[in-house]
Amino acid sequence: MKKVNNHQFSPESLMMSYGYKPEWSEGAIKCPIFQTSTFVFKNAEEGKSFFELAYGLRAPAEDEKTGLIYSRLNNPDLEILENRLCLWDGAEACAVFESGMSAITTVLLEFLKPGDVLLYSMPVYGGTDHFINTFLPKIGIDAIGFRPEMDVGDISRLLASSGKADKLTMIYTETPANPTNTIVDIEMLVRLAKVYSTADQDVLVAVDNTYMGPLWQHPLKHGADIVIYSATKYIGGHSDVIAGAVLGNTETIKRVKTLRTFLGNMASPNTGWLLMRSLETLKVRMEKQALNAEKVASYLSSHPKVEKVYYLGLIHPDSPAYATYKRQYLSPGAMLSFDIIGGEKEAFTFLNNLKLIQLAVSLGSTESLAEHPASMTHAGIAEPHRIEMGITDKLIRLSIGVENHLDLIWDIEQALELV
Ligand SMILES: *Cc1c(COP(=O)(O)O)cnc(C)c1O
Repeated sequence: MKKVNNHQFSPESLMMSYGYKPEWSEGAIKCPIFQTSTFVFKNAEEGKSFFELAYGLRAPAEDEKTGLIYSRLNNPDLEILENRLCLWDGAEACAVFESGMSAITTVLLEFLKPGDVLLYSMPVYGGTDHFINTFLPKIGIDAIGFRPEMDVGDISRLLASSGKADKLTMIYTETPANPTNTIVDIEMLVRLAKVYSTADQDVLVAVDNTYMGPLWQHPLKHGADIVIYSATKYIGGHSDVIAGAVLGNTETIKRVKTLRTFLGNMASPNTGWLLMRSLETLKVRMEKQALNAEKVASYLSSHPKVEKVYYLGLIHPDSPAYATYKRQYLSPGAMLSFDIIGGEKEAFTFLNNLKLIQLAVSLGSTESLAEHPASMTHAGIAEPHRIEMGITDKLIRLSIGVENHLDLIWDIEQALELV
């Protein structure tokens, strides 16, 4: 029920009820946790018919969906959650996973094969970087990294110099990049993918939208094929669950779900239920976080002990990234980082003296978090490469939560005082 009498409801209005009917569960207003491994068929004919569809042995009748079979294939908590997640990104279909990494690795394994080349923006999440550069080469898949500042010409030259441009199969990006907030123009990548697509093979564009989604950036609307989330972050939003999601068109997600069935890395019913609960407050949480981040960024940018603040709201209108920022983002978001004057010693003094903001990795949650990327989230990146990407010892990353912004600023102020 997305539309009534031609009135289209907004996603935030649908998060409490969409896709669930109380009569399925004794009138319960909330979808219960369907904590079950298997589902009883009404009769053998129904079981046969469900399997025919699940195994693609026949085409579905109009509006026919695969019936409930077994919780590795489908489960009401996962299906309803997937339907709700589709609303934010305007996607046809979604598949949820037990972690963001399982969502990412399943996409890479499904759409790449030995001999293929993956083009990816640098930096990407540490786990993703490791999988791309350590695991994929073992199965004969090469990766070529490009920097966010590069344009179509630079990237085309990079591909040409590799001698493998004709093997390009997927372009993968994370924008804004963690932790420096550099942005990549998704529409430029879509144009590039078209150039390298052939009659038998489309080059796909996949975007890890964890940093901004699902509220502030909608990659599918800019022509991307696949959107990926670590639902552990904003979607879960309470630092109490690990989960992931992939969105795209029906055909793409069918392939992703098929591999998910055989890898068995779907989310559990309990995870599905927790995420549905989180989605009800997604928009109010994220909007408050963005408001707080704006206040914190503005405070930091005029502080004498702060060298530079990396925050989308501070991209200079004269910089080449500004047009992309205006076109692609609906908000500057709630993630920021800054260079403290000094190095690791000063950064650690600051982190060790925070009283309210907690020292932890992860992001997007209700509580504000601070960390030191060079020695924590990005410690696995070789030093020259890390420094080239701006992840130096003086960089501190903040994920802003829903607290009172005056308390956050007080905390930052007193910790900077001690540096
Ligand atoms: C956390 C994160 C991941 C990995 O997700 P998990 O849920 O921890 O497996 C991937 N990409 C980005 C941008 C992340 O922040």
